[in-house]
Amino acid sequence: MFNLVLFGPPGSGKGTQSENIVSNYKLQHISTGDLLRDEVSRHTPLGTEAKKYMDQGMLVPDEVVIGMISSKIDESADARGFIFDGFPRTRPQAEALDKLLEFKHTRIHLVLALDVPEAELVKRLVGRGETSGRSDDNEEVIAKRIKEYHSKTQPVASYYNAHGKLETVTGNHSIAETFKSLTKHINKYLLPVT
Ligand code: ADP
Repeated sequence: MFNLVLFGPPGSGKGTQSENIVSNYKLQHISTGDLLRDEVSRHTPLGTEAKKYMDQGMLVPDEVVIGMISSKIDESADARGFIFDGFPRTRPQAEALDKLLEFKHTRIHLVLALDVPEAELVKRLVGRGETSGRSDDNEEVIAKRIKEYHSKTQPVASYYNAHGKLETVTGNHSIAETFKSLTKHINKYLLPVT
């Protein structure tokens, strides 16, 4: 198994690059943002609880997200590996993920961080808001999401760096160039499926 965390601020391109990685390396994609939005649209109790936080640009409580991830990992026991997108977003989530994977006799092999200047992030997110229909893609909520990223999510990078797993890639070039930079790191562990 090969397990990858794609890390970066809101708007850094994690969703887009995840799609490229999934189609080339056949990893199982786990996006907590997508999973939460699915719960919201199905009006589940978890979704109703999560929506209160998401609409304000705040992180959903760790225990909610960790429980959701745990069942997703169990559902894909025979995967070639996982790509985690938008998770872990706090240090307790990172520690919980390590424990979950250890229980399955595996681990996180690599964390790829997308580095994009803040002005570019805001520009992309505001642009996406015009078409995405996402209730959290407006300027006020975007600012809050970036603030949450700095205070709660950035420490996750130090956590993985201390474990020697973090590699940073510039996410400010074209989608294709950024993907190429990511593949250089992934290919050290796993080759694309042709
Ligand atoms: P983005 O990275 O563009 O902000 P996501 O789709 O990853 O978008 O997340 C949207 C929202 O869902 C976040 O603002 C947050 O409220 C919630 N969310 C997603 N993943 C997590 C997580 N791992 N922990 C807590 N909240 C999360």
